[in-house]
Amino acid sequence: MRLEINNVTKKFKHKTAVDRFSMVIEVNDCVGLIGPNGAGKSTLIQIIADILSADEGYILLDGQKISTKKDQIGYLPQYPNFYSWMTAFETLLFMGKLSGISKSHLHKDIPLILEKVGLEKEAQAKVGTFSGGMKQRLGIAQALLHKPTLIIMDEPVSALDPIGRREVLNLLKEIKKETTILISTHILGDAEEICERFVVIKDGQKIEDATKTQLLNRSQESAIYLTIRKED
Ligand code: ADP
Ligand code: MG
Repeated sequence: MRLEINNVTKKFKHKTAVDRFSMVIEVNDCVGLIGPNGAGKSTLIQIIADILSADEGYILLDGQKISTKKDQIGYLPQYPNFYSWMTAFETLLFMGKLSGISKSHLHKDIPLILEKVGLEKEAQAKVGTFSGGMKQRLGIAQALLHKPTLIIMDEPVSALDPIGRREVLNLLKEIKKETTILISTHILGDAEEICERFVVIKDGQKIEDATKTQLLNRSQESAIYLTIRKED
Protein backbone atom coordinates (compact mmCIF):
# COMPACT_ATOMS: atom_id res chain seq x y z
CA MET A 1 0.00 0.00 0.00
CA ARG A 2 1.29 3.40 -0.99
CA LEU A 3 -0.92 6.46 -1.28
CA GLU A 4 0.45 9.42 -3.19
CA ILE A 5 -1.33 12.75 -2.99
CA ASN A 6 0.16 15.01 -5.60
CA ASN A 7 -0.41 18.75 -5.75
CA VAL A 8 -4.15 18.51 -5.07
CA THR A 9 -6.24 21.69 -5.27
CA LYS A 10 -9.97 22.00 -4.66
CA LYS A 11 -11.93 25.24 -4.94
CA PHE A 12 -15.50 26.01 -3.90
CA LYS A 13 -16.41 29.12 -5.91
CA HIS A 14 -13.72 31.56 -4.76
CA LYS A 15 -12.68 29.63 -1.68
CA THR A 16 -9.61 27.41 -2.09
CA ALA A 17 -10.35 24.62 0.40
CA VAL A 18 -7.31 22.50 -0.51
CA ASP A 19 -4.29 24.24 -1.97
CA ARG A 20 -1.54 22.35 -3.84
CA PHE A 21 -1.44 19.65 -1.19
CA SER A 22 1.01 16.76 -1.47
CA MET A 23 1.93 13.88 0.80
CA VAL A 24 2.75 10.20 0.71
CA ILE A 25 1.36 7.57 3.06
CA GLU A 26 3.25 4.30 3.21
CA VAL A 27 1.99 0.95 4.44
CA ASN A 28 1.52 0.78 8.23
CA ASP A 29 1.81 4.54 8.61
CA CYS A 30 -0.50 6.17 11.11
CA VAL A 31 -0.87 9.79 10.09
CA GLY A 32 -2.69 12.50 12.01
CA LEU A 33 -4.01 15.22 9.68
CA ILE A 34 -4.31 18.18 11.99
CA GLY A 35 -5.65 21.65 11.46
CA PRO A 36 -8.18 24.11 12.85
CA ASN A 37 -11.79 24.15 11.71
CA GLY A 38 -12.07 25.22 8.09
CA ALA A 39 -8.48 24.18 7.30
CA GLY A 40 -9.56 21.79 4.52
CA LYS A 41 -9.31 18.42 6.31
CA SER A 42 -12.75 17.10 5.35
CA THR A 43 -12.39 18.30 1.77
CA LEU A 44 -9.03 16.56 1.37
CA ILE A 45 -10.32 13.37 2.99
CA GLN A 46 -13.35 13.31 0.71
CA ILE A 47 -11.06 13.66 -2.29
CA ILE A 48 -9.01 10.68 -1.06
CA ALA A 49 -12.26 8.73 -0.54
CA ASP A 50 -13.22 9.66 -4.11
CA ILE A 51 -16.38 11.43 -3.00
CA LEU A 52 -15.16 14.79 -4.27
CA SER A 53 -12.94 15.27 -7.28
CA ALA A 54 -9.86 17.46 -7.27
CA ASP A 55 -9.71 20.50 -9.58
CA GLU A 56 -6.00 19.98 -10.01
CA GLY A 57 -3.49 17.34 -9.02
CA TYR A 58 -4.08 13.64 -8.56
CA ILE A 59 -4.10 10.82 -6.04
CA LEU A 60 -2.62 7.40 -6.70
CA LEU A 61 -2.97 4.21 -4.69
CA ASP A 62 -0.22 1.77 -5.57
CA GLY A 63 0.40 3.79 -8.70
CA GLN A 64 -3.19 3.69 -9.91
CA LYS A 65 -6.03 6.21 -9.92
CA ILE A 66 -7.98 6.21 -6.70
CA SER A 67 -11.30 5.73 -8.54
CA THR A 68 -10.18 2.23 -9.59
CA LYS A 69 -8.99 1.35 -6.08
CA LYS A 70 -11.94 2.49 -4.04
CA ASP A 71 -12.52 -0.92 -2.48
CA GLN A 72 -9.12 -0.72 -0.79
CA ILE A 73 -10.11 2.36 1.18
CA GLY A 74 -12.32 2.42 4.25
CA TYR A 75 -13.86 5.82 4.96
CA LEU A 76 -15.47 7.12 8.13
CA PRO A 77 -17.19 10.45 7.48
CA GLN A 78 -17.12 13.29 10.00
CA TYR A 79 -20.86 12.89 10.52
CA PRO A 80 -21.79 9.25 9.85
CA ASN A 81 -25.47 8.73 9.18
CA PHE A 82 -27.44 5.73 10.33
CA TYR A 83 -31.08 4.68 10.31
CA SER A 84 -32.09 4.73 13.95
CA TRP A 85 -34.65 1.95 13.44
CA MET A 86 -32.11 -0.56 12.10
CA THR A 87 -30.10 -2.83 14.38
CA ALA A 88 -26.30 -2.76 14.31
CA PHE A 89 -26.33 -6.04 12.36
CA GLU A 90 -28.92 -4.78 9.86
CA THR A 91 -26.96 -1.55 9.38
CA LEU A 92 -23.80 -3.42 8.41
CA LEU A 93 -25.76 -5.81 6.22
CA PHE A 94 -27.43 -2.89 4.43
CA MET A 95 -24.21 -0.89 4.01
CA GLY A 96 -22.28 -3.99 2.96
CA LYS A 97 -24.85 -4.85 0.28
CA LEU A 98 -24.71 -1.25 -0.98
CA SER A 99 -20.97 -1.57 -1.45
CA GLY A 100 -21.38 -4.83 -3.36
CA ILE A 101 -20.27 -7.38 -0.77
CA SER A 102 -22.00 -10.75 -1.12
CA LYS A 103 -24.63 -11.77 1.42
CA SER A 104 -22.75 -14.90 2.44
CA HIS A 105 -19.55 -12.95 3.14
CA LEU A 106 -21.53 -10.41 5.13
CA HIS A 107 -23.23 -13.02 7.30
CA LYS A 108 -19.85 -14.55 8.06
CA ASP A 109 -17.92 -11.28 8.58
CA ILE A 110 -20.39 -9.00 10.38
CA PRO A 111 -20.29 -10.90 13.71
CA LEU A 112 -16.47 -10.82 13.61
CA ILE A 113 -16.40 -7.10 12.86
CA LEU A 114 -18.95 -6.32 15.56
CA GLU A 115 -16.76 -8.20 17.99
CA LYS A 116 -13.70 -6.29 16.85
CA VAL A 117 -15.38 -2.94 17.58
CA GLY A 118 -16.84 -4.23 20.86
CA LEU A 119 -20.48 -4.21 19.76
CA GLU A 120 -21.13 -7.96 19.65
CA LYS A 121 -23.68 -7.74 22.46
CA GLU A 122 -25.47 -4.92 20.66
CA ALA A 123 -25.80 -6.73 17.33
CA GLN A 124 -29.58 -6.86 17.64
CA ALA A 125 -30.00 -3.46 19.37
CA LYS A 126 -31.42 -0.53 17.42
CA VAL A 127 -28.89 2.12 16.46
CA GLY A 128 -31.26 4.78 17.80
CA THR A 129 -30.43 3.60 21.32
CA PHE A 130 -26.63 3.91 20.82
CA SER A 131 -24.34 6.45 22.50
CA GLY A 132 -22.12 8.67 20.35
CA GLY A 133 -19.14 6.37 20.97
CA MET A 134 -21.13 3.29 19.96
CA LYS A 135 -22.31 4.96 16.75
CA GLN A 136 -18.76 5.91 15.93
CA ARG A 137 -17.59 2.33 16.53
CA LEU A 138 -20.37 1.13 14.24
CA GLY A 139 -19.11 3.62 11.64
CA ILE A 140 -15.64 2.16 12.01
CA ALA A 141 -17.10 -1.35 11.61
CA GLN A 142 -18.74 -0.18 8.40
CA ALA A 143 -15.44 1.26 7.14
CA LEU A 144 -13.73 -2.08 7.90
CA LEU A 145 -16.39 -4.26 6.24
CA HIS A 146 -14.60 -4.70 2.92
CA LYS A 147 -11.22 -5.25 4.63
CA PRO A 148 -9.52 -2.08 3.36
CA THR A 149 -5.74 -1.63 3.28
CA LEU A 150 -6.11 2.05 4.19
CA ILE A 151 -8.68 3.48 6.55
CA ILE A 152 -9.36 7.22 6.63
CA MET A 153 -11.36 8.73 9.44
CA ASP A 154 -12.59 12.29 9.65
CA GLU A 155 -12.56 13.60 13.24
CA PRO A 156 -13.60 10.23 14.71
CA VAL A 157 -13.48 11.41 18.33
CA SER A 158 -14.04 15.17 18.14
CA ALA A 159 -17.75 15.08 18.93
CA LEU A 160 -17.60 12.43 21.68
CA ASP A 161 -17.85 12.63 25.46
CA PRO A 162 -14.79 11.44 27.45
CA ILE A 163 -16.05 7.83 27.73
CA GLY A 164 -16.87 7.54 24.03
CA ARG A 165 -13.56 9.16 23.15
CA ARG A 166 -11.66 6.64 25.26
CA GLU A 167 -13.55 3.68 23.72
CA VAL A 168 -12.85 4.84 20.18
CA LEU A 169 -9.19 5.73 20.84
CA ASN A 170 -8.61 2.27 22.35
CA LEU A 171 -10.21 0.69 19.29
CA LEU A 172 -8.06 2.76 16.94
CA LYS A 173 -4.94 1.62 18.79
CA GLU A 174 -5.93 -1.96 17.93
CA ILE A 175 -6.83 -1.18 14.32
CA LYS A 176 -3.54 0.58 13.64
CA LYS A 177 -1.67 -2.66 14.37
CA GLU A 178 -3.07 -4.16 11.18
CA THR A 179 -4.17 -1.27 8.94
CA THR A 180 -2.65 1.91 7.56
CA ILE A 181 -4.48 4.87 9.06
CA LEU A 182 -5.13 8.50 8.23
CA ILE A 183 -7.08 10.32 10.91
CA SER A 184 -8.08 13.97 10.89
CA THR A 185 -8.68 16.10 13.94
CA HIS A 186 -8.61 19.72 15.02
CA ILE A 187 -7.19 18.70 18.41
CA LEU A 188 -3.59 17.52 18.47
CA GLY A 189 -4.16 15.49 21.66
CA ASP A 190 -6.64 13.21 19.89
CA ALA A 191 -4.09 12.11 17.30
CA GLU A 192 -1.17 12.19 19.71
CA GLU A 193 -2.33 9.01 21.40
CA ILE A 194 -2.37 6.91 18.26
CA CYS A 195 -0.15 8.42 15.57
CA GLU A 196 3.55 9.07 15.34
CA ARG A 197 3.42 11.29 12.28
CA PHE A 198 1.55 14.56 12.01
CA VAL A 199 0.67 16.53 8.94
CA VAL A 200 -0.56 20.03 9.72
CA ILE A 201 -2.93 21.72 7.29
CA LYS A 202 -3.88 25.39 7.39
CA ASP A 203 -5.85 27.32 4.77
CA GLY A 204 -5.73 24.21 2.58
CA GLN A 205 -1.93 24.07 2.58
CA LYS A 206 0.40 21.60 4.19
CA ILE A 207 2.54 23.54 6.64
CA GLU A 208 4.14 20.63 8.46
CA ASP A 209 4.93 16.93 8.11
CA ALA A 210 6.65 15.96 11.32
CA THR A 211 7.09 13.38 14.04
CA LYS A 212 5.41 13.81 17.39
CA THR A 213 8.61 15.04 19.06
CA GLN A 214 9.34 17.49 16.27
CA LEU A 215 5.85 18.91 16.40
CA LEU A 216 5.77 19.27 20.17
CA ASN A 217 8.98 21.29 19.98
CA ARG A 218 7.56 23.79 17.49
CA SER A 219 7.34 27.47 18.38
CA GLN A 220 4.84 27.92 21.17
CA GLU A 221 3.83 31.40 20.08
CA SER A 222 2.53 30.36 16.69
CA ALA A 223 -1.26 30.75 16.75
CA ILE A 224 -1.90 27.59 14.77
CA TYR A 225 -0.07 25.39 17.27
CA LEU A 226 -1.91 26.97 20.16
CA THR A 227 -5.21 26.32 18.37
CA ILE A 228 -4.59 22.64 17.70
CA ARG A 229 -3.08 22.08 21.15
CA LYS A 230 -5.98 23.35 23.19
CA GLU A 231 -8.32 20.77 24.61
CA ASP A 232 -11.44 21.94 22.86
P1 ADP B 1 -12.24 21.23 7.93
O1 ADP B 1 -12.74 19.86 7.73
O2 ADP B 1 -10.75 21.30 8.14
O3 ADP B 1 -12.97 21.94 9.03
P2 ADP B 1 -13.40 21.74 5.34
O4 ADP B 1 -12.67 20.90 4.38
O5 ADP B 1 -14.75 21.28 5.80
O6 ADP B 1 -12.48 22.06 6.61
O7 ADP B 1 -13.61 23.18 4.71
C1 ADP B 1 -12.51 23.92 4.14
C2 ADP B 1 -13.04 25.23 3.61
O8 ADP B 1 -13.86 24.97 2.47
C3 ADP B 1 -13.90 26.01 4.59
O9 ADP B 1 -13.69 27.38 4.39
C4 ADP B 1 -15.31 25.64 4.18
O10 ADP B 1 -16.21 26.65 4.51
C5 ADP B 1 -15.16 25.46 2.68
N1 ADP B 1 -16.13 24.47 2.15
C6 ADP B 1 -16.13 23.15 2.45
N2 ADP B 1 -17.11 22.51 1.77
C7 ADP B 1 -17.73 23.46 1.03
C8 ADP B 1 -18.82 23.44 0.10
N3 ADP B 1 -19.47 22.31 -0.20
N4 ADP B 1 -19.17 24.61 -0.49
C9 ADP B 1 -18.50 25.75 -0.20
N5 ADP B 1 -17.47 25.85 0.64
C10 ADP B 1 -17.09 24.72 1.26
MG1 MG C 1 -14.09 18.74 8.82
